Amino acid sequence: MQGRCACGQVTFAVIDARPTATFCHCSQCRRFSGHYWAATRADLTNVTFIAEDTLSWYRSSDHASRGFCSHCGSSLFYQPDGADHLGIAVGCLDQPTGFTPGKHIFTADAGD
Ligand SMILES: [Zn+2]
Ligand SMILES: [Zn+2]
Repeated sequence: MQGRCACGQVTFAVIDARPTATFCHCSQCRRFSGHYWAATRADLTNVTFIAEDTLSWYRSSDHASRGFCSHCGSSLFYQPDGADHLGIAVGCLDQPTGFTPGKHIFTADAGD
């Protein structure tokens, strides 16, 4: 399947992504995405960038970075340091994904 940011200057293909969406309610995800973060994940070796000129990385904590498009502002990726997988916002994937809802995490930090 393919995914892209709103403007298309970050476009990628992914295979074997986990077919569920995980919903993260932590404060970092809420601020980064504007709501809770809904993401799948895939092995880094299964993600191929077709366009990435405007892909930028924000250092969101001492153990992870978040990828976004510096042109249109779309929040796209979550990358824990040293991990062999990439978190991918399900909203940027082309429809239909066929994914199903997965677990909600960090719900104690959920916005009111
Ligand atoms: Zn963009
Ligand atoms: Zn989170």
